[in-house]
Amino acid sequence: MIKAKKSLGQNFLIDKNILNKIVNTTKIQDKTILEIGPGTGNLTSCILKKNPKKIFVIEKDEELIVDLKNKFNNQLTIINDDVLDVDETILFKDKVIVFGNLPYNISTEILSKWIINLKNNFWFESLILMFQKEVADRIIAELNTSNYGRLSIISNWKLNIKKICDIKPGAFYPRPKIDSSLLFFSPKRNFVKIKNPNNLEKITRIFFNQRRKMIKKPFNQLFNGDQRVLDKLKINLNLRPQNLSLNTYYNLTSEYENLIS
Ligand code: SAM
Repeated sequence: MIKAKKSLGQNFLIDKNILNKIVNTTKIQDKTILEIGPGTGNLTSCILKKNPKKIFVIEKDEELIVDLKNKFNNQLTIINDDVLDVDETILFKDKVIVFGNLPYNISTEILSKWIINLKNNFWFESLILMFQKEVADRIIAELNTSNYGRLSIISNWKLNIKKICDIKPGAFYPRPKIDSSLLFFSPKRNFVKIKNPNNLEKITRIFFNQRRKMIKKPFNQLFNGDQRVLDKLKINLNLRPQNLSLNTYYNLTSEYENLIS
């Protein structure tokens, strides 16, 4: 058996029921698929059985690339690169369905990159991604909870998100120490327009810098106490960052962009 590399977050999925559950979350037949980190190809095999039109995989580990080429011959378009360095927005002719049992050490970086790089058109139809449960809980966190924060706000800006299931360590080899969760993301039709998503990152970073404190200080830092913005967005400065809704953060970003333009 292949020796898994911890530095590349290699925990290979071996539970057939879970593999089948993942590929049954959406229709694959005749669709273009992108798989992030195919590893030993367990999920890739299941995807291929569903007759996709084409399948691209991005894998960083050169040793695994050799095995993937032997195992799948010409059935895959293999990209031997770091997913963080690939520009997916220019790779595909069709909208793709993305599958990924993501390397946990960079899972939020991958998701943030995709959200921040989204242009006017979505390059994907859906994302079916595995995260460590603690990260997934932050992505789908409800307002007014301790998990609600930057990751929830940024992830939910342009995407609808739902949890498919939680997955126990025994489904992987080697067994991770933590539980995992599978999430399904699809593009939102309507979302608050933000010119530069880096501003959403900036606003949420400054607001959540001191998540237990009232929002007066970060608001004044960014908006110089602008009463018009407070009234328009119905913001009470005695609240804490976790008490402001998703839309309030998106609208705040849009107001901030008006202010600095
Ligand atoms: N999909 C396989 C499975 O479910 O059995 C493997 C999943 S394993 C959690 C993560 C995979 O991502 C590994 O194959 C690893 O080599 C690969 N990987 C890690 N970092 C990567 C990166 N920066 N870019 C592309 N692939 C990466």
